[in-house]
Amino acid sequence: MVRPENTPRQRPGEVPELPEVETIVRDLRRLVVGSEISETAVVKSDLIRGDPRAFEESLRDRQIRNVERRAKNIVFHLARAGTGPDRLVINLGMTGRVLVQADSAAEPTHLGVRFRLADGRRMLYQDVRRFGSLELLPSEFWERRSRGLGVEPLSETFTPALLHRLTRTSRVAIKTWLMDQRRVVGIGNIYASEALFRAGVSPRRATRRLLRRQTAALYDAIVEVLNEAIAFRGTTFLDYRDASGERGGFVRRLLVYDREGEPCPRCGSPIRRIVQGGRSTFFCPKCQR
Ligand SMILES: [Zn+2]
Repeated sequence: MVRPENTPRQRPGEVPELPEVETIVRDLRRLVVGSEISETAVVKSDLIRGDPRAFEESLRDRQIRNVERRAKNIVFHLARAGTGPDRLVINLGMTGRVLVQADSAAEPTHLGVRFRLADGRRMLYQDVRRFGSLELLPSEFWERRSRGLGVEPLSETFTPALLHRLTRTSRVAIKTWLMDQRRVVGIGNIYASEALFRAGVSPRRATRRLLRRQTAALYDAIVEVLNEAIAFRGTTFLDYRDASGERGGFVRRLLVYDREGEPCPRCGSPIRRIVQGGRSTFFCPKCQR
């Protein structure tokens, strides 16, 4: 079921979710692991958590050892120099982008931070609306914070049994519950709607009232939709770009999201849009119970 070739419509207000951040992280791993940051310039200091001058200073001559994703955060592992902090954590907020380019390329507008790499390239953090953040901190601090976040849906820890158990205590609607980062991380507005459609579960159903077969179907749908979206390098929406500045290709595979009034790909009934927690939910009232 592929969305017909047309100009992707774009809804404002959507933020990068797990597949978009994972796509960027995989690109960055390929592009910058092993590179050394020679100089850092903070252009928009409100993006930095902590002191911007100390941020610039601490990043001088630091090697990038690895890049990983935790929830919707991009986590750079830096070689430790002396006792300096060794995790650079970037959260893209709504409109953040991390781009890697040659030194000769024209810099984008809305530049937030410029990292010069010792090999002559630049890694740039760009953010139009500036809801994103960059923070340098010791690994132990980061790990403590990371333990407070919910389970990674693509990890081995996440199982149908765990999802069922986690859903037992909540009265909120399952769509809203899925977006709560304290339970399961990385699922936002787009993939919550898509996973619920694939699972045949109504977004309005009270979380703790889901039957075991429904949480099992939802587990499968979450894992499937996230993996598929990663394979297509994420969903194109207003501001998302991967590390090369390209748009994601998953937008044409969305089955219900942003398709209000269009026929359901399974039964042909019109897709409905409702608002839950201030966000649009798209679903088929016939297929989702
Ligand atoms: Zn339907």
